[in-house]
Amino acid sequence: MIDESKVVDVAVIGGGPAGATAATLVADAGYQVRLFEREQFPRFHIGESLMPETYHTFRRLGVLDQLKSSPYQKKLSVQFVNEEGKESQPFYFDDHNPHESSRTWQVVRSDFDRMLLENASRHGVDVRQGTRVLEVLFEGEQAVGVKVQDADGTKEEISARVVIDASGQSSLIAHRLKLREPDPILKKGSIWTYYEGAQRDSGRNEGATLVLSTQGKKGWFWYIPLHDDKVSVGVVSSFEELFQSDRGPPEEIFYQEVERCPAVKKRLESGRRVTGFMTTKDFSYYAKQLAGDGWVLVGDAFGFLDPIYSSGVFLALKSGEMAADAVVAGLQAGDVGGDRLGQWGHEFLQGMERMKRLVYTFYEGVSFGRFVRENPHLSGHLVDLLVGKLFDPHVDEIVEPLEAMRRQVRAESLQNAGS
Ligand SMILES: Cc1cc2nc3c(=O)[nH]c(=O)nc-3n(C[C@H](O)[C@H](O)[C@H](O)COP(=O)(O)OP(=O)(O)OC[C@H]3O[C@@H](n4cnc5c(N)ncnc54)[C@H](O)[C@@H]3O)c2cc1C
Repeated sequence: MIDESKVVDVAVIGGGPAGATAATLVADAGYQVRLFEREQFPRFHIGESLMPETYHTFRRLGVLDQLKSSPYQKKLSVQFVNEEGKESQPFYFDDHNPHESSRTWQVVRSDFDRMLLENASRHGVDVRQGTRVLEVLFEGEQAVGVKVQDADGTKEEISARVVIDASGQSSLIAHRLKLREPDPILKKGSIWTYYEGAQRDSGRNEGATLVLSTQGKKGWFWYIPLHDDKVSVGVVSSFEELFQSDRGPPEEIFYQEVERCPAVKKRLESGRRVTGFMTTKDFSYYAKQLAGDGWVLVGDAFGFLDPIYSSGVFLALKSGEMAADAVVAGLQAGDVGGDRLGQWGHEFLQGMERMKRLVYTFYEGVSFGRFVRENPHLSGHLVDLLVGKLFDPHVDEIVEPLEAMRRQVRAESLQNAGS
């Protein structure tokens, strides 16, 4: 006899933004969804700065009112500061589109992720925290369920018609099927910490994300004002350079980098560090395939680009949403083959590609301040990309002019090196 408690329509691995989104939307369609999260929430996670385009998924999930009444710092713009400390004009999201979807938040992830996961429970998802997925079960190439272990150490196998892998950087399925490929160009690492009482801008700029280049353009700092007078501050650079063995422990490296970035140093002077230092590296990768028979990858379990434009949570929510729609359509049609579950892949990859190009542009030294000065008619397109309108082909009009500036910057730096 079949034990009904061990059979579900959909098993979701991971309760971060991607998993919570996918699970909620599949449950909304009436399917039985069980989500396994190895941690007990709230748990720490990096990635506080949201992109405004998250708005539409929040609305679908039914959490907009909660966000609006949350204490999170509102984020209305992003601003770039060059290595000499010169600030670009802030890129205000609602200058171009004066609608509430052009505003967003700087969240505290432990709290934000818990909010999304609790919302999933309210929508009927059976959430199992403290339960680790040990492996995804396959019959041939078909995913058929998961093997899990709860906090007491009890192991069990759960059958599922579809497995959604939202395990973040653990990328369970991509590792098992050897699908994961590092980005060949973005070999970055990061060190970050939190301050209280550090400098904040005021008024419309209070919640701006600042991206501050370090001298020699070797790396950059994020400076993200959170609520409760806290600031998230971290440096990103080539990981070989950042973690060179003679540079000392992360704390020393962090302050060496602060010395290379007077604009961050000045902002931190009035503040007090309130946590230790956290590090990560090798975070830019893609899976070669996004779905297969009975399985689909969402969020970081599929891929992560780079923190520069704060696109991670947006892409996690968006992929969670697109995958959920494909899973529901597949279940309804009685077809959970890879082609059906991955139907959204082409559109999603095009969006990610647009973001990737913008990321490469930054690392090649293109200044957006200069780009907008030289191409004022394209400032709206640039803001659209920064807002997260990655799935709207009209933004492609900016591609060639950005490429042209990339070529120009490359030629200028070769010329400078030769002179
Ligand atoms: C340095 C850095 C800075 C960043 N800054 C930003 C930013 O400012 N803004 C932004 O939008 N993004 C940022 N990101 C990216 C962002 O953190 C991620 O893109 C986002 O968290 C992805 O969400 P997710 O749901 O896919 O994965 P996660 O949020 O990582 O969730 C995955 C979940 O799966 C669980 N899990 C893993 N393995 C198992 C298992 N075997 N069984 C059960 N559960 C499991 C984990 O515990 C976790 O809760 C940053 C990333 C880095 C590296």
